[in-house]
Amino acid sequence: MNTARRPAYAADAEHHRRDAPRYCPRCGCDLVGTGIAVEFWEGTNRVFHTWCAACRWTGDITPMTQMVGHEPEH
Ligand SMILES: [Zn+2]
Repeated sequence: MNTARRPAYAADAEHHRRDAPRYCPRCGCDLVGTGIAVEFWEGTNRVFHTWCAACRWTGDITPMTQMVGHEPEH
């Protein structure tokens, strides 16, 4: 695809290359070439549906820009 004619696509492709999971979260195997990380959107959230060929783990990974957690009182 000629990304020069579609700059929004080029930016999305660059973000995908930067953020797609490279290693399995369960076994640590390299996913590039031996697994799958397909990106889709749920509203404004980006989700990588991920599958590892080595251990068969399948799941969704969502990049976060801010973490909101809860801690009990100290
Ligand atoms: Zn794995």
